[in-house]
Amino acid sequence: MQAMHSKGAYKRDARPEFWQLAMRCCVLAGSIDIAFFFIFLALDSPILAWVNVISVAMYIGAYRAFIHRRNRIGFALIQTEVLVHAGLGTLLIGWDSGFHYYLLMFIPALFVSTRARIAWILAGHLWIYYAGLYVLMWYVKPLQPIPSNALLGVNIFNLTVVFCMFSYLALFYVITVSRAHTSLSRMATTDSLTGLFNRRQMVALTEKVLARHHRHPSNLTLMLMDIDHFKQINDAYGHDAGDRVLIAVSQHLQSSMREQDFMGRWGGEEFLGVLPDTDLEQAAEIAERLRKAIQVLQIDSDGKQVQVTLSIGITQYHADEVLSNAIARADYALYKGKSSGRNRVEAIQA
Ligand code: GH3
Ligand code: MG
Ligand code: MG
Repeated sequence: MQAMHSKGAYKRDARPEFWQLAMRCCVLAGSIDIAFFFIFLALDSPILAWVNVISVAMYIGAYRAFIHRRNRIGFALIQTEVLVHAGLGTLLIGWDSGFHYYLLMFIPALFVSTRARIAWILAGHLWIYYAGLYVLMWYVKPLQPIPSNALLGVNIFNLTVVFCMFSYLALFYVITVSRAHTSLSRMATTDSLTGLFNRRQMVALTEKVLARHHRHPSNLTLMLMDIDHFKQINDAYGHDAGDRVLIAVSQHLQSSMREQDFMGRWGGEEFLGVLPDTDLEQAAEIAERLRKAIQVLQIDSDGKQVQVTLSIGITQYHADEVLSNAIARADYALYKGKSSGRNRVEAIQA
């Protein structure tokens, strides 16, 4: 007995988990109404019992509408059911039945499904309906009263259902928001092609390492790597093959890094590695190992084997210099590697 919406609610594919939730709620609410059918028959309240049969039919209709992607119809059915059922239940057996609790489920649903201005207007109408029902029941006797013990039971049952539904809804939104947050932060920090850290994240992580370095100075080496003649790969094999080469090289570099090191995509076919607690000599050995490994890497591209080489520039970070200075030095080392014939490691101390 509830209606739930979401931003862009009528586009099923945009939020698949939301439609699953809406359909699950139809099943849940329909099952509750089947239970109510027997409860009210037992309580000798046939009108309410048959109202529940109509409700179940409406939930089946809404469920089928969602299956066939007629989402507007599905939501209209749920909304009508909740409004009419809450009103009729209250009129027939009284305010103390607690059927009005279900109307409160509309409030969060309104604000997540429509623009704020419209949501406020609809919430105002809902308030009038809710308060009107309350005032009406103040003056009018229930049309088909049930014994007071049974009334208490129905109230507690309705209260419990609404508590559970609110908790479930809250949990759903928390999970949805935290999933969205995780995926947004992944998108903001990684490169979509290679899955490596992107340039912004590399700067942020390196700045953190530098802050630690300022407190506890140690050897820190930067390594700039660039695929040689990459433009020719694109020209000879096509851009998609170029992408596959970038992915393969990235994966290889990433898996060859030690645990304390990190690397990312610095530009098109350029990668930056940051090697804490590593002096220039150790870094040169690591770079040489990487260079040799990339040189023999066979990358499959539509049945053809593509091979590339890597030029690497390394430099040591000096205390108190800005990061861009150290990177410019690594870039200069890389440039030296390129101009001395490529497929080389060049180091610059200072
Ligand atoms: P050098 O040895 O001097 O580095 O030569 P190069 O050809 O590797 O360097 P250049 O800067 O001339 O060309 C880099 C090329 O990398 C040009 C650009 O189209 C390509 N590139 C950049 N990003 C991507 C990408 O994401 N995918 C593909 N396929 N190519 C890319
Ligand atoms: Mg290049
Ligand atoms: Mg380049």
